[in-house]
Amino acid sequence: MTLPAYKSWPFQEAQKLQKRFAQPASLPVRFETGFGPSGMPHIGTFAEVARTTWVRHAFEFLTQWPTQLIAFSDDMDGLRKVPLNMPQQEMLAENLGKPLCRIPDPFGECESYSAYMNKKLNEFLDSYQFDYTFQSSYEAYTRGDFNEGLAIILRKVEDIKAIILPTMSAEKRTNWSPFFPICEKCSRINSTRVIHYHPENNTIEYRCDREEGPVKSCGHKGTTSIFDGHVKVGWKIDWALRWYSYDIGYEMYGKDLIESATLSGKIVRLMGKQPPIGQFYELFLDEEGRKISKSVGKGLTIDSWMDYAPLESLLYYIFQNPKQAKRLFWGIVPKSVDDYLAGLNHYAMLDSAKQPDSTIWHLFNKGANVPSYRTSTNFSLINNLISAVGADDIDLILEYLKRYDSSTEKFAPIIEDLVHKAMNYYRDFILPNKNYRRPDKEEIKMLKTLRDELANYEGDDENELQSMPFNVARMFNESPGNFFKMFYEVVFGQERGPRFGTFVQLVGKDKALNLLDTLVNRNNVD
Ligand SMILES: [Zn+2]
Repeated sequence: MTLPAYKSWPFQEAQKLQKRFAQPASLPVRFETGFGPSGMPHIGTFAEVARTTWVRHAFEFLTQWPTQLIAFSDDMDGLRKVPLNMPQQEMLAENLGKPLCRIPDPFGECESYSAYMNKKLNEFLDSYQFDYTFQSSYEAYTRGDFNEGLAIILRKVEDIKAIILPTMSAEKRTNWSPFFPICEKCSRINSTRVIHYHPENNTIEYRCDREEGPVKSCGHKGTTSIFDGHVKVGWKIDWALRWYSYDIGYEMYGKDLIESATLSGKIVRLMGKQPPIGQFYELFLDEEGRKISKSVGKGLTIDSWMDYAPLESLLYYIFQNPKQAKRLFWGIVPKSVDDYLAGLNHYAMLDSAKQPDSTIWHLFNKGANVPSYRTSTNFSLINNLISAVGADDIDLILEYLKRYDSSTEKFAPIIEDLVHKAMNYYRDFILPNKNYRRPDKEEIKMLKTLRDELANYEGDDENELQSMPFNVARMFNESPGNFFKMFYEVVFGQERGPRFGTFVQLVGKDKALNLLDTLVNRNNVD
């Protein structure tokens, strides 16, 4: 049986990998993600693991081959500056230049700085049920996983310099070496420079006398084996070394690492293997379109997202074209949830052969456990309802929703959760921005006319209800656009709102009349 060619991007990536591995050199086929343990795991870490997992699943679906995802933590990296959000700033300042795995844990919980961050990474990935194999760089070096590759790099130092040096400033080229020995005396890694290479016995001579920025040195001169964790190689070489040693087949990376990926690719070829298939993804931007990196946030964490919206709505958002820059801020919540719910609604109607091209299929483990959701009730509708009737009574909201759409009952657990989250969202993000405008005399007349039209209407047809505000606008020689704007500003305290017909059906005619009465009377008395 030949499978149809799927168009969704994880399948396109998986197909590239499949071509490459017509005859897999070794199984399982390995996928890799990278983590820098100088800070806590964040939404960028989450997105990289999620995206890689989607490609991995698509690949498994196409090939049925075993796969493995290695979540690699670069804990041999040196600490170059003290992160401002960490406790024990003085202690950290004294340890600048040391590998993260040799610096005490500022929280006092684990055996090192990076052990703490690695623990956080594992807890983080576990809490979202990712399937991965954690690999610490320190352990890999110490265990000798990289020895074979390190020996090759030592023999090819000049060829590697020829690749890397042209990309560096003249000033940095002097003394540059792919190797960073850990000083035997002071444990620093950013303070050493290599003075002699001895490929004949896999050792190097170094001096600890490089002072860069706040990183100190101790003046020690020594000779060390390049094996078993005594030295680390610089970042681009390190990346190639991992690819080489673990036969990585696939890796994604942020747009900021495109040049690194190219250079690491050249180095791994020089070492005698192919670089992995890979794909860059765009980085997240903040509300104003500025790059957000490690400081991501102002509170936007995945946990806090889940206070306001289902996790799958965030995944749905992240899933869309990884090469397109995405803004990440609280304003995207309602649309993300509604897109996700529309995706669920649509999925149920898809022919099973087409399902693998749906975002939903990827979000729910190759379509294995897609929840059933077929109702027009969505986050915006719930938010509109909360705007109209208040946010303090969940049962009342659910009552309204059931009356509006009887199918709501069938999906009660999902909808109750949505209402809870929508109430949080309303309280924290909508309510503080509401600004109820006082209508002028003419506007009060218009609202009263609308009220009377509604009072005199006997039916329950959405289109007929929807035509009422248009009729009123016409009577008063007002454009429908202006009329609706006034209506939303006065009734909802915001510039936009639900269709009038939907609104009346949602809250019911009596409640709608009540609302309009209150408005008209309150403003009349004044
Ligand atoms: Zn030293």
